[in-house]
Amino acid sequence: MKTYQAVTEAVLQELREITGAAHVKTAPHILQSYSEDESGMLAHRQAEVVVFPGTAEEISRIMKLANRRRIPVTPRGAGTGVCGGVVPVYGGIVVSMERLNRILEVRENGLYLVAEAGVRTADIQAAARAKGLLYAGDPCSSDSCFIGGNLATNAGGNKAVRYGTTRQQVYAVEAVLPTGEITQFGSVLKKCSTGFCLEQLLIGSEGILGIITKVILKLVPLPPYRFDGLIIFSSLEQAVSLVPKLMQSAVNPTSVEFMDKKFVRRAVQYCRVPLPHWQDAYYVIVTLEAFCSEELARMTETLVALGETCGAVDMVKADERVWKVRRNCLESTRELSRESTSEDLVVPLLQIGNCLHTLMKKAATYSFEAFCLAHAGDGNLHFQLLRGDLPAAVWQAEVADFRKFAYPFVYRSGGRLSGEHGIGCKRVAYMEAYTDPVELAVMKKIKNALDPHGILNPGKVLREE
Ligand SMILES: Cc1cc2nc3c(=O)[nH]c(=O)nc-3n(C[C@H](O)[C@H](O)[C@H](O)COP(=O)(O)OP(=O)(O)OC[C@H]3O[C@@H](n4cnc5c(N)ncnc54)[C@H](O)[C@@H]3O)c2cc1C
Repeated sequence: MKTYQAVTEAVLQELREITGAAHVKTAPHILQSYSEDESGMLAHRQAEVVVFPGTAEEISRIMKLANRRRIPVTPRGAGTGVCGGVVPVYGGIVVSMERLNRILEVRENGLYLVAEAGVRTADIQAAARAKGLLYAGDPCSSDSCFIGGNLATNAGGNKAVRYGTTRQQVYAVEAVLPTGEITQFGSVLKKCSTGFCLEQLLIGSEGILGIITKVILKLVPLPPYRFDGLIIFSSLEQAVSLVPKLMQSAVNPTSVEFMDKKFVRRAVQYCRVPLPHWQDAYYVIVTLEAFCSEELARMTETLVALGETCGAVDMVKADERVWKVRRNCLESTRELSRESTSEDLVVPLLQIGNCLHTLMKKAATYSFEAFCLAHAGDGNLHFQLLRGDLPAAVWQAEVADFRKFAYPFVYRSGGRLSGEHGIGCKRVAYMEAYTDPVELAVMKKIKNALDPHGILNPGKVLREE
């Protein structure tokens, strides 16, 4: 186990010299709010100081200082993560990316965009759209999360079925390594067989292998024609049977989202927008995109035919109200319970029906309330478990029991613990328990090679040795 040093007045003074005094904060309310994210996990230990650097060079100097003094550093984007990735387990310095917030270049003819890591994802999407192009990364939190956080977690979202997750949208990454060197991994190349693909190593590493400071993102032509359909089912089996059929068809959907009956009911009530059959139905929301109206008409016909084959009770055009309900699922359960936890399981597409069915049936045997939705087109199942009025001991025992069933089941099905949210500090013990020992050992060797003093985001992803 590594030992870390406290942030002393001398360290604060050095930080002020690096970033300017105005960008070094120690007020208690700031330390608290920058020690939390959307997971609701309390900081094991709070940040001792929050620093707001303005350049990669300043971050490099902070990392060199932290190495010299053996102080842990937690990189922080917008704090919308849901697995405690920014919770500073061992205190130390929180490095906020808020001031690295410039879009540096949108190159239409080269189909790429260069941005600093603290730019809001929605601003990147808008900058691309303004040029008639698409940045295809689209997490539901895009109005608030940062692009650097998206890379660090390999965020998924609404368009991942057609375009892939964040890692498929990236040409290159500039980062400050744990020991303070600034480097760029990757380049604006369609292909490259020149050594390791290190930009992909940083993507999804949750801030434990480097601090991402700048990104070069892929843009694609924006399909001008779009159809959103809401396909409504009375049974779970029928609803999930649509997913593999859609994926095998020639429609190449952009999104395929599933909501169970409880989420439909709850989110509709929360948003106050009554949708068809909302009291008692499973929803599948499908987005289709095309470059000409004939192509879109053909895709829509196929979708309708597949919906009929699978026994849909109704099919309607999905307007903004449907997406509002989908986007507010998580939020809609918040006021029902003071405590909740979410699962982010991912399984092969072939297994999605079986896994949804088995895990929803299992979840229904407990006294906690369970809601389920899925990015069904990419095999990603979200379970939201609510404590409600349960005594703490019952709640903890039941959640542990559910996981004891669900995790081995998912791994036997070829799945993994997290499809898009990451491990953070929330799932470290499970990561240790369920990852192949050789794979885990390789990850730890890489971490130790890049971060010999273990100061960058310790307590996340991998258990400290
Ligand atoms: C309502 C809601 C909806 C959501 N929907 C989705 C969704 O559809 N898909 C999805 O994938 N996620 C979703 N999320 C989760 C979250 O928004 C994503 O994980 C997002 O990518 C986090 O970005 P952030 O800037 O907030 O990162 P943070 O929460 O600040 O950090 C997340 C992790 O990344 C690291 N990190 C952040 N910035 C950097 C950097 N520059 N360099 C290195 N490491 C860094 C942190 O140390 C931490 O480990 C949702 C969250 C909420 C609250």
